[in-house]
Amino acid sequence: MRIDTKCIQSGYTPKNGEARILPIYQSTTFKYDSTEHMGRLFDLEEDGYFYTRLANPTNDAVAAKIADLEGGVAGMLTSSGQSACFYSIFNICEAGDHFVCSTSIYGGTYNLFSVTMKKLGIDVTFVDPDASAEEIAAAFRPNTKALFGETIANPALVVLDIEKFAKVAHDHGVPLIVDNTFATPINCRPIEWGADIVVHSTTKYMDGHATSVGGAIVDSGNFDWEAHSDKFPGLTTPDESYHGVVYTERFGKAAYITKATATLMRDLGSIPSPHNSFLLNLGLETLALRMRKHCENAQKIAEYLSKNDKVSWVSFSGLEGDKYYELAQKYMQSGSCGVISFGVKGGRENAVKFMDSLKLAAIVTHVADARTSVLHPASHTHRQMNDEELKAAGVTPDLIRFSVGIEDADDIIEDIENALNAAVE
Ligand SMILES: *Cc1c(COP(=O)(O)O)cnc(C)c1O
Repeated sequence: MRIDTKCIQSGYTPKNGEARILPIYQSTTFKYDSTEHMGRLFDLEEDGYFYTRLANPTNDAVAAKIADLEGGVAGMLTSSGQSACFYSIFNICEAGDHFVCSTSIYGGTYNLFSVTMKKLGIDVTFVDPDASAEEIAAAFRPNTKALFGETIANPALVVLDIEKFAKVAHDHGVPLIVDNTFATPINCRPIEWGADIVVHSTTKYMDGHATSVGGAIVDSGNFDWEAHSDKFPGLTTPDESYHGVVYTERFGKAAYITKATATLMRDLGSIPSPHNSFLLNLGLETLALRMRKHCENAQKIAEYLSKNDKVSWVSFSGLEGDKYYELAQKYMQSGSCGVISFGVKGGRENAVKFMDSLKLAAIVTHVADARTSVLHPASHTHRQMNDEELKAAGVTPDLIRFSVGIEDADDIIEDIENALNAAVE
């Protein structure tokens, strides 16, 4: 199936006489006729549902759809993008381990990695995503277990050179984990370029209507954990908490995702509600349609902004001459995303005036939504960072993150024009 068809058809195929639309299994638990049968489920000897924290048919169908869209072998849903990012690392790192990460990432993930995970004894080194392969390689240590980056960084809009990152990761025997939230599998499928694990905040374009916070992890099935068994004993040696199961032996290509479900979800429990997964599925059905419109609108608006003398700079990888134009052409031929960042002349003060003068675009801590929304990262998502950290993350004090919706582009442009006129002399 092609990607537009997968958006509609993947994940759930009703049998004769069953509901055409994915049912919401709003049930915590599942009934069995024998003690012995339920026992086999607990030992992971047999597939089957028993408790929604571990698996639920609605959640699984949506996870399978996302895995199919990304070209992976299996997926899991989480209650937020944050928990997806956390699990993706914590599934293969423990106290004493280390991973390498692009500096240009979402502010919440930066906090998670640089503060909270350090408290768990997991250390991180940040690297400039535009650095050479040699410079990135220099950050690796004997205890490094993963490399992490975002396809299109939120909010700096840096486009990741996925092949470069994949090569450095694989040269060091570790997986590349890519957060593909902004591009979505409609515009980029990182697994096709060498990524091993893909994570998402489904809260953004996938849901698309700002109804539900959620996340996803997709396993490509491509990383050879056994070849680097010394680094990943959690996957390649017996797990005493499951009667000695060895994930790579029992689950093959789905070892990583099965361990994440069987241990992390079991112990930490950040599952989505089946009802949220149902809403996410509705969003996924129109993902391909919406992404096309987001990209078309964003292109028009970026071109408008780049010609406006009240705007000091525009960052959008669809603009010829943009620092990331070539990388975007390579990795995202059908468009990148609907998010533009730009600077309003007059710095922080005028940026705030501009924000407050918008009428159609809403000030929200949200992005990648059907409705046009706008944020000032220096005063919102990134306010915990000092100026130096802001600079490293590619966020300047005048930066406006403008998330172009699927309204008529001309209405959005009129709104911007009025606000620019009100903010800048
Ligand atoms: C929003 C976001 C997250 C965090 O996701 P939540 O669903 O808000 O927890 C992670 N990565 C990226 C790129 C994001 O945009």
